[in-house]
Amino acid sequence: MSVVQRFAVPIDLHTHSSISDGTQTPEELVRAAQQAGLGTVALTDHDSSKGWAEAAEAARQERITLIPGMELSTKVGGTSVHMLAYLFDPENVELVEELQRIREARRTRAESMVSRIGRDYDFTWDDVVAQSAVGTTLGRPHIADALVARGHATSRKDAFAGILNFRHGYYEPHYAPDPVTGARLIRAAGGVPVLAHPATRGIEHVIDEQRLAELVDAGLAGLEIDHPENEPSGMARLRELAVEHDLIVTGSSDYHGTGKVNRLGECTTAPDALARIIEQATGSEPVYPD
Ligand code: AMP
Ligand code: FE
Ligand code: FE
Ligand code: ZN
Repeated sequence: MSVVQRFAVPIDLHTHSSISDGTQTPEELVRAAQQAGLGTVALTDHDSSKGWAEAAEAARQERITLIPGMELSTKVGGTSVHMLAYLFDPENVELVEELQRIREARRTRAESMVSRIGRDYDFTWDDVVAQSAVGTTLGRPHIADALVARGHATSRKDAFAGILNFRHGYYEPHYAPDPVTGARLIRAAGGVPVLAHPATRGIEHVIDEQRLAELVDAGLAGLEIDHPENEPSGMARLRELAVEHDLIVTGSSDYHGTGKVNRLGECTTAPDALARIIEQATGSEPVYPD
């Protein structure tokens, strides 16, 4: 390792706060990470870096290393592809503009889904506003929380299996760039792109090899292989692909507070993998405890 390792283990590189669909503020999340015994935590809200400053302040107080990050929405065909982005410049104009476009599209899509649900259920946009922080990246989880508050679902999971599922006719997609564009934008902002949970639907849905090669050309740095929802059959193939393309392998919990069952530190990243991410990043710095 060429840099002195200033971060502690265990390392969890994928968590969400109320800046997107997590249930804790960035400060609460960082405190929970420290209490869970983590040495390093990445904050990776969907399509937003708005939580970085608050998380950094809490990380300094709690003496835990913070890796500022994000989970970028992209899609190919109709399929959503999540791309983690670490240590990019949060003021990079092209990236900032693209993030605004995605968040705006998410908002319009949420409003449209809610108005359609409102035709069949006692449900309004005010219900969703009551369940989401100002400026948050709006997603189906906020609609789910509002459905629960109204008694139309018993939990986020129940809402996702029912009203919010695309089979039930209320689902709508939203604008997102394609993954190649996403990887290029992240790299151009000095960040390090890592494909999030690429095997949640098993080996058949692991990204096809042609597309993976294109993504590597566009700057993809790694694969999030150790993730609670990746299926074992797909994970084995991903490990081979990581070796083939010399990709960084990460592991993380994808913690959403009480919004999902995933526990902080449930899956973790090896120190040499994080060291490689830090070495490649030029957009911003980790927040170290000293
Ligand atoms: P969206 O991007 O608005 O379509 O919403 C997708 C988000 O919903 C993902 O980022 C997950 O965090 C969350 N999600 C998906 N399925 C579930 C589930 N069954 N229970 C809780 N959260 C879920
Ligand atoms: Fe999420
Ligand atoms: Fe995701
Ligand atoms: Zn996530």
